[in-house]
Amino acid sequence: MDDTKILLSEKELPQKWYNIQPDLPEPLAPPINPQTKQPIGPQDLAPIFPMELIKQEVSQERWIEIPDELKNVYKLWRPSPLVRAHRLEKFLKTPARIYYKNESVSPPGSHKPNTAVAQAYYNKKEGVKRLSTETGAGQWGSALSFACNLFGLKCTVYMVKVSYEQKPYRKIMMKTWGSEVFASPTNLTNSGKAVLSKDPDTPGSLGIAISEAVEDAATHDDTKYSLGSVLNHVVLHQSIVGLETQKQLKIAGEKNPDILIGCVGGGSNFAGLAFPFIPEKLKGKDMRIIAVEPTSCPTLTKGPFRYDFGDTAELTPLVMMYTLGHSFVPPPIHSGGLRYHGCAPLVSLLVNKKVIEAVAYTQNPVFESAIIFAKTEGILPAPETAHAIKCVIDEAIKCREKKEEKCIVMNFSGHGHFDLSAYDSYLSGKLKDYELPDKKISEALKELPEIK
Ligand SMILES: *Cc1c(COP(=O)(O)O)cnc(C)c1O
Repeated sequence: MDDTKILLSEKELPQKWYNIQPDLPEPLAPPINPQTKQPIGPQDLAPIFPMELIKQEVSQERWIEIPDELKNVYKLWRPSPLVRAHRLEKFLKTPARIYYKNESVSPPGSHKPNTAVAQAYYNKKEGVKRLSTETGAGQWGSALSFACNLFGLKCTVYMVKVSYEQKPYRKIMMKTWGSEVFASPTNLTNSGKAVLSKDPDTPGSLGIAISEAVEDAATHDDTKYSLGSVLNHVVLHQSIVGLETQKQLKIAGEKNPDILIGCVGGGSNFAGLAFPFIPEKLKGKDMRIIAVEPTSCPTLTKGPFRYDFGDTAELTPLVMMYTLGHSFVPPPIHSGGLRYHGCAPLVSLLVNKKVIEAVAYTQNPVFESAIIFAKTEGILPAPETAHAIKCVIDEAIKCREKKEEKCIVMNFSGHGHFDLSAYDSYLSGKLKDYELPDKKISEALKELPEIK
């Protein structure tokens, strides 16, 4: 048997992040101010983000240095292992070679701290004292809490009320790292108060929580806002995943993967793995790059590519992306992290240019794959991650049928230790498959702003 874990030493930690912007087949369409319909400039973002992150957001430099202080923090859990899934391969009787990049080894248990620590670092350097953010199920909130604690920043998390009440464990994790966590909507912001006055018993939503966190940052001089996916600088920070994977594949004797797979919510873990490989693909290397989403929130497979708001409250600039409409409320499936109405503009552009393909799956086959993975490789995947596993399994079975020895690499974005109630639903046969009807999509799209 070949090696199972392919490890890099701390010395081999990437020194730079990879920025795909100069290598795109065409430049990104600019973000637009919804009032003036003009492209926004860096100064428009300055009240809520630190200057260094704004610079990274628009940078055309291919390589951006990772500061030493940040590399030392990454070393708490990086380089992360690339693991050959020997037991899964055997179970599937596939001639394919399957690898997963294990991002579940970070202290909060997902890829999200790769950007959380970078964002906390740059904010700290520019004198910011506190970060505000929103969280749904709590994965991003716990990653940012972990990061703020390391850099001595205060952190305020607006957690969607229904999750705050029904999913207490990530909330406790955030508080352990010293964050303030509020059930959103709160009485602390105007946007929260407005919602509560109309509907005191609202379960809350990610859109409302975003509005509260942004308002908090915009109305306090010492506070900035932080977002865990979608934005270009987040995707940049996540490139460390793919850069490490490239070195590890070389050690494993692999030339180039035939198939790269990741699950997509806002697109950051998928892009983190895939983007460093894209220049080779654009030069003509034969490589499939597959983004996986749920059929209940089929942004890339069914949404149009156009300008939309990033949030429900219409506070953000308009960005060009695949979208189901910012008023779209996804049904309550268990993969909280995959329920965003839009997708990173960088991922969207590459899907539109057919560099990346997209597939969607329903919940039950996804959980079936999660169980296969847990039984063969041992780790209980996050429900989000299990979408990628389902795709890996499908592709590995195709390899068996066609007798093809392909190299398949996926991003294992996180473990599911806080998602056991979802496993419980699946195991007791209570999980429902749901495909979003086309009619619902066309309804939500009616409210999109027209941009010429
Ligand atoms: C948040 C999350 C995702 C989805 O976010 P992306 O930005 O699309 O990566 C996927 N997997 C896990 C484990 C997550 O926590």
